[in-house]
Amino acid sequence: MITVKDLHKSFSKVEILKGISAEIQKGEVVVVIGPSGSGKSTFLRCLNLLEQPTSGEIMFEGEQITAKNHNINATREKMGMVFQQFNLFPHKSVLENITLAPMKVRGQSRSDAEKVADELLKTVGLQDKRNAYPSQLSGGQKQRIAIARALAMQPHVMLFDEPTSALDPEMVGEVLEVMKKLAENGMTMVIVTHEMGFAREVGDRILFMDGGRIVEEGAPDQIFSNPSHPRTREFLSKVL
Ligand code: ADP
Ligand code: MG
Repeated sequence: MITVKDLHKSFSKVEILKGISAEIQKGEVVVVIGPSGSGKSTFLRCLNLLEQPTSGEIMFEGEQITAKNHNINATREKMGMVFQQFNLFPHKSVLENITLAPMKVRGQSRSDAEKVADELLKTVGLQDKRNAYPSQLSGGQKQRIAIARALAMQPHVMLFDEPTSALDPEMVGEVLEVMKKLAENGMTMVIVTHEMGFAREVGDRILFMDGGRIVEEGAPDQIFSNPSHPRTREFLSKVL
């Protein structure tokens, strides 16, 4: 579904991504791990062109999205993104948060958008919060709504950037549970997380990043039980 070839990204002449190549298959759950500052967020943001790569190629569903004449908006609609900070619209209800983009961007009718929203609220277990406002929700509930909102655009792939890092510990599980359900339903996902138990259980493949490169990648069991690169070993010894 996604092919990344020799992706480089610099910010004011400082090279942050130093040649990333990766493939993500349809239905695959790829988990990106690595130390803070290693370029995980920049990589994810390049995938949906929130950051413009300095060089390299990204193919998405057979189209080169890094090409000059490419329609970025069409691609972004197919890639849902969930951030550490939930970014819900504070003055809109849960239902409005979820239906806004489908109505405005995809031209869905209100009744169709609300039907989809109600289904998604069921998926994330928050039907009773339909008319609530973000300030009335816990962090875990906000993040589940943010996931529902992203799903409402019917994305082909979901990108998650540390979706549980801003949550109180007791709320991490409910968000991971929703993500696990998505994975089981076949959603293609790229997930940056520090939740190693989740990475091992739900990931099909782990990418370990350090210093702007993918240093090692492999099946969860291999990476977690038998990492081959010294930097992977060192990182895991600190976080496990
Ligand atoms: P990670 O998500 O692995 O912690 P990031 O991709 O956020 O790493 O950041 C990698 C490096 O890129 C950091 O040194 C960070 O300061 C730098 N960086 C990220 N975004 C920008 C930006 N918009 N401008 C300048 N530097 C940035
Ligand atoms: Mg980050």
